[in-house]
Amino acid sequence: MAVTRRRFILSLPGAALLLDACARSDQSRVDPESWEPAYLKLEAEGGFADRIEEAYSILEACELCPNRCGVNRREDQRGFCRAPEKAVVYSFHPHFGEELPLVGADGSGTIFFSNCGLRCVFCQNWPLAHEGLGWEVSDENLAWMMLELQRIGCHNINLVTPTHVMPNIVAATRIAMEKGLRLPLCYNTSGYERVENVRLLDGIVDIYLPDLKFMDGAEARRYNLAEASDYPETARKAIIEMHRQVGDLIQDERGIALRGLMVRHLVMPNRVAGTRAFVEWVAENLSPNTYVNIMAQYRVEHRAFEYERIARAITPEEFVEAMEWAQAAGLTNLDQRSLANLEVYRQRLG
Ligand code: SF4
Repeated sequence: MAVTRRRFILSLPGAALLLDACARSDQSRVDPESWEPAYLKLEAEGGFADRIEEAYSILEACELCPNRCGVNRREDQRGFCRAPEKAVVYSFHPHFGEELPLVGADGSGTIFFSNCGLRCVFCQNWPLAHEGLGWEVSDENLAWMMLELQRIGCHNINLVTPTHVMPNIVAATRIAMEKGLRLPLCYNTSGYERVENVRLLDGIVDIYLPDLKFMDGAEARRYNLAEASDYPETARKAIIEMHRQVGDLIQDERGIALRGLMVRHLVMPNRVAGTRAFVEWVAENLSPNTYVNIMAQYRVEHRAFEYERIARAITPEEFVEAMEWAQAAGLTNLDQRSLANLEVYRQRLG
């Protein structure tokens, strides 16, 4: 048998894994010149305007999130999230603390929305999510923010806590698209989403960035004001739909995210978040190549000090075991910073 270059490389220890990783990385690189955001295709097919109408009709008996309050937000009735009809924006700016494929050299164009239908007791954004600080903006104002973020060079429009303002976002995106928006939308959500509403975003959102915070209903119920014991099941269903729409992460030649699913999971003290079940679920139900960010930054925020099991930071041991579970589950696309944190924590442990 002739010794080809491939056969020679395959004879080396660990080579099969290396070749597999290279092939995957080649497949996931796309020429940015030939790439277009999904919403342009939807517009060309004539479906975008109908989506806006459909999305706004949900506001009339609001079922935008799994709380399904049924209030008419078009007549200024407020539900559990306390959100009005218009979007409330706390801030918009390039963000350099997000995942590296979103940040690139020029930042992720982040719009922070106020209010939230989940409201975790350990929320790091509590002044906006719990207290509702911010300014009401029209859909035209929101479109202008998107265009400004594009003008200053951001790589995407990163919509933080978008669930309860989804109709506003869809309408603003079309306004901005007509004025030249060409960046991918990144839907940065708690994961507490109705799958029906995620389906409405098919062909509009290119990058989904959901959390999967808890794997156990009792833990979920304990640590958010919505008392959402259905959080794990609801979020898992929504994330499967997100993955169906956009698949694994696709990046351009600079490594900038263009399309795909990126999942976040915050390691919590005392294994409250169910990290082992999380990584095994991702490997079995999405893809081992799913971009997964296992986050080490849990801190005692807002009302977390009232809950004994989460009233401390995580230990190095807790983070190392979380990452080792992820690797043992076969996850191959772990966030670079989480891998770097693993090394730091291992060094601390000696
Ligand atoms: S978005 Fe707000 S009003 Fe609508 S169902 Fe959710 S919590 Fe209730």
